Amino acid sequence: MPVPSAKPRRPDHGSATAPRRARMMPPAQAEAFIRALAVANPAPETELTYSDPFTLLVAVVLSAQTTDAAVNRCTPGLFAAAPTPAAMAALGAEGIGPFIRTIGLWQGKARNVAALARDLVEKHGGQVPADRVALEALPGVGRKTANVVLNVVFGQETMAVDTHIFRLGNRCGLAPGRTVREVEDRLVKRCPPALLRDAHHWLILHGRYVCKARAPECWRCVARAFCNYRDKVLAPPA
Ligand code: SF4
Repeated sequence: MPVPSAKPRRPDHGSATAPRRARMMPPAQAEAFIRALAVANPAPETELTYSDPFTLLVAVVLSAQTTDAAVNRCTPGLFAAAPTPAAMAALGAEGIGPFIRTIGLWQGKARNVAALARDLVEKHGGQVPADRVALEALPGVGRKTANVVLNVVFGQETMAVDTHIFRLGNRCGLAPGRTVREVEDRLVKRCPPALLRDAHHWLILHGRYVCKARAPECWRCVARAFCNYRDKVLAPPA
């Protein structure tokens, strides 16, 4: 009797908290990986809609555990109603809530946005501070949010590690690390300084659209030649 053939193994590509880890790339390979992303997208930008430092700060706070697209659907109404820290503080959490009910954790976010707007008015003259310590002291603002604001608005060479960059850094061997901070520190160390600001965007966009959580789309990855991941997916699903 013929023995049934074994089913082909389906690789487990890991999870957000426990991504698969590859051998760390040597520095020259890491630079080549980042340069390949750079060539494909020479002028990367955040996908969040904003018009000034304050609206970017609020959009990033709202984007925690939510997609940028979901945030962009609710911020036009919110920013029209409250375009400045003073107006946002006056709107208060009760007034902010109805604009952002469609995004996750909206009640806590409404409280944080109202409180951070109040702090900006009372402690920073209504301006977003260009300083990590001051930013991280604002309600709802952690290291990742501060890194995004410092990078995008103030031109600082920071690397905000979100779930996409954490997975990508581990999976391809660019910057393996057990914690978000380990991945951030490795990326800052390994990225050529001139590319660091844009690398934040390249890596987020690459993780979001190509090196996806459930299965990476390696067949269309421009940096594939430099990636150390062993279970590359070299063809689209049939
Ligand atoms: S080759 Fe695949 S695993 Fe490696 S970075 Fe590209 S998409 Fe991700």
